[in-house]
Amino acid sequence: MIVMKFGGTSVKDAEAVSRLARIVARERRPRLVVVSALSGVTDALLDVARLAEAGDGVGVLQAVRGLHRRHEEMAAIVRATERRASLLAVTDALFDELTAIVRALAVVEEVSPRARDAIVAFGELASSRIAAAALEDAGLPARWLDARAVLVTDAQHGAAAPDRAATDESLRALVRPLLAEGLVPVVGGFVGATAAGLTTTLGRGGSDYSAALFGAGLAADEIQIWTDVDGMLTADPRVIAEPRVVPRLSFDEASELAYFGAKVLHPSTILPAVQLGIPVRILNSHRPEAPGTLVTRSVDGGDGGPAAIACKRGLTRIDIASSRMLMAYGFLRRVFEVFERFRTPVDVVTTSEVSVSVTIDDRRALDGIVAELSTFAEVASEDGMAIVCAVGERLRTDARLATRVLGALEGLPLAMVSQGGSRKNITVVLRDADAPAAMERLHRRFFETEDAARAALAIA
Ligand code: ASP
Ligand code: MG
Repeated sequence: MIVMKFGGTSVKDAEAVSRLARIVARERRPRLVVVSALSGVTDALLDVARLAEAGDGVGVLQAVRGLHRRHEEMAAIVRATERRASLLAVTDALFDELTAIVRALAVVEEVSPRARDAIVAFGELASSRIAAAALEDAGLPARWLDARAVLVTDAQHGAAAPDRAATDESLRALVRPLLAEGLVPVVGGFVGATAAGLTTTLGRGGSDYSAALFGAGLAADEIQIWTDVDGMLTADPRVIAEPRVVPRLSFDEASELAYFGAKVLHPSTILPAVQLGIPVRILNSHRPEAPGTLVTRSVDGGDGGPAAIACKRGLTRIDIASSRMLMAYGFLRRVFEVFERFRTPVDVVTTSEVSVSVTIDDRRALDGIVAELSTFAEVASEDGMAIVCAVGERLRTDARLATRVLGALEGLPLAMVSQGGSRKNITVVLRDADAPAAMERLHRRFFETEDAARAALAIA
């Protein structure tokens, strides 16, 4: 069986839901459908919670009415009159309940984390009803399931942790029998409940996490994450005009790219599935025939280039030198204690016998950091730096690849060079002004040549 998860953009309006129905209909394997709230709805519900807390009773009702209307309008895609009427009745009941909750909260001007979860859960509770009705209308034997009966969590509202054993048990009891009967269960992501039945949510982006947890519990053959882009890209499209889709990524490669801001997928959310060796496929609901990006626990090294390149701009480099570092121990600890005390994360670190260079993104504590480091070392800092990074399992298996990466950058002054312990990336730090040129050269070298295209095809 497979899990098909549709993000907010894939259920955002009537047209999107029709596309969803077509995609689920053409799939032949047994499938569990997981949906996010319609795009923007989780944010809107969080706003509602804020308005209630501020005691804005009028604003709260206005906002909920707007959301009700948006969901109501989507019922139009259901053609069968009776089915449409029952979807409208369910939607009305949901929004009546939401109205009652937020009206009361606006009076007391207090929204506890528990109440906030009760409010935001309506996004997925409503969207999953619409998706289930649309699938039935398309002739599929869809069965809506209440996410609160399936996903069992602890009581940490807003960022609840799943109870894997209890969730697996409810999957066994509620979902497996439906799949065995050839039915198509539909459930909202992101939402769960405690064992005592209190509504909880997993935290932002939590629908991917739900999909991974369900896929893991059901030992799915594959988890599909349907979104509105073709997959993970070889570079950020704001930097490289025509990036390619990366056909395959390992979990580590995907994590590395997510750190650099690849927003398509937060790898930690799919970890429960990846750990079990369940492949996760990122697909575009606007172009369902496109192959997308397949994320697996590991990928074969092979002999192509890096999987993708990434950059992070506007950084500060700090050079810390001490004559005493020669043959001394404890120096690095003292250096990093300073960053820890100022709660400033360090991105790249390089060392020589007598000096350490680091980059930081957050400059707020820079003056304090420099002052404190200066009590035991020579310190210099420079703003306007950038990290450029090539990511790929093949950096580990092909010893020449790092040289080829650096070769492509010939002539650009490099301030730092680092190859991480995993040897799955090679990172350089250079002037921010040189970052676009560095990215373009790397992209041309590894992704825009015929060789690169052939290597990509061979992997796909
Ligand atoms: N609707 C939730 C959010 O916007 C969960 C999700 O879409 O993954 O964060
Ligand atoms: Mg999402």
